[in-house]
Amino acid sequence: MIKIYNTLAGKKQVLKPIHNKEVKFYACGPTVYDRAHLGNLRTYIFEDVLRRTLKRNGYKVRQIMNITDIEDKIIKRAEEENKKPKDIAEFYEKIFFEDLKKLNIEKAEYYPRATDNIKAGIELIKKLIKKGFAYQGKDKSVYFNISKFKNYGKLSNLKKRTLKMGIGITADEYDKKEAADFVLWKSAKKNEPLWQSPWGPGRPGWHIECSAMSMKYLGEKLDIHAGGVDLIFPHHENEIAQSEAASNKKFANYWIHGEHLLINGRKMSKSLKNTYTLKDLENKNVDPVAFRYLVLTGHYRSKMNFTWNSMAFAENSLNNIRKKLYAEEKSPAKRKKQNYLKYEEKFLSAVNNDLNTPKAVSIIWEILKNKNLEQKEKQLLIHKFDEILGLKLKEKPVEIPRKIGKMAQQREILRRNKQFIKADALRKKIEKLGYIVEDTISGPKIK
Ligand code: AMP
Ligand code: ZN
Repeated sequence: MIKIYNTLAGKKQVLKPIHNKEVKFYACGPTVYDRAHLGNLRTYIFEDVLRRTLKRNGYKVRQIMNITDIEDKIIKRAEEENKKPKDIAEFYEKIFFEDLKKLNIEKAEYYPRATDNIKAGIELIKKLIKKGFAYQGKDKSVYFNISKFKNYGKLSNLKKRTLKMGIGITADEYDKKEAADFVLWKSAKKNEPLWQSPWGPGRPGWHIECSAMSMKYLGEKLDIHAGGVDLIFPHHENEIAQSEAASNKKFANYWIHGEHLLINGRKMSKSLKNTYTLKDLENKNVDPVAFRYLVLTGHYRSKMNFTWNSMAFAENSLNNIRKKLYAEEKSPAKRKKQNYLKYEEKFLSAVNNDLNTPKAVSIIWEILKNKNLEQKEKQLLIHKFDEILGLKLKEKPVEIPRKIGKMAQQREILRRNKQFIKADALRKKIEKLGYIVEDTISGPKIK
């Protein structure tokens, strides 16, 4: 039994899929105008843990994640770089998939692109106009009329938020413009990519893309819709309005949102220019899976502040897990017989309880420290847990001969004493013996 926090209900609920054994899961994907930053990746990691948890509980998962490959930011970037929007989108889409792989994120069942689904968007807009929920403006763009949709605001508690504004919440937390009617079809502007439609040339808005693609690939009713908390309003609120106005059905039963990754206490975001990407980690020789570990040590509904110190600590911890997991077994002590399977129950009830990954990770440590378990039993358990955590714990650490380890230690001492020439010579000697020393944020690493 999985319990999960549903933003729509404002509480944890037992997950009951529409079809007994299959879960229809839509996650909002990237706008491919740049590399994903670590904040975006945190969200994709939490969604991957959700996916793996569903599978571990015996559900067949049908997960769809859209690729937004036409949008203002893509067009702007293309102009800046004197390229076509399509080239920008293709370039960053490729990097997006590489990043997912490096983070050991399982592939969703399908990644539809917005530009391949223009027709589905147009059909949906037609339906909304016909039913009186949308209109064409003077500027030829088509808008959704939110006053026609009675339930507008049910996900983000819009009414409460508007009321609260009166009692001292600053206006920038609630952008009035956003609360107004929103665009479904953007009429063409000069030099922008365009598609033909009954309302003239143009392109679909961001919100309609997600409604159109989720309904096309999953049907009018989904089990789960997920994303970061910044998507609750207006994006997800607008998706509900569009989809439910068109279908007369409840669009998604569970709305699941991950909290932000922060840096110096502020949301990591392109607009604040405070982002890091996987490339930045790799430039510092940080294993991307160590970032995944860092993310899992926090709960997905809690904010997490990223620092290089916490990154280094996470990398060290992950290395230590690997070392301990494959360390040679000490001579068998007198072990108390115990039922090691109780750990499996404990682990599963942690992840099944609103994806409590910090608890799940702590259970790994508990097992590693348990002197009454055999190494083989530990491996068996932890490998099984890793089907959900995805920390590549089946990979054994490379065995480094003692001699090489000592040489690397000496080199580190020389380096600290600023004897760089000697240190470099020693590094070359190590390389001749077939090993590489890399300086990482958590100390020297030998490969
Ligand atoms: P975007 O490409 O901006 O649409 O974002 C892709 C995903 O990343 C969405 O689910 C966002 O909610 C999420 N996201 C954006 N910034 C952050 C952040 N700082 N921390 C966690 N998730 C984020
Ligand atoms: Zn979306």
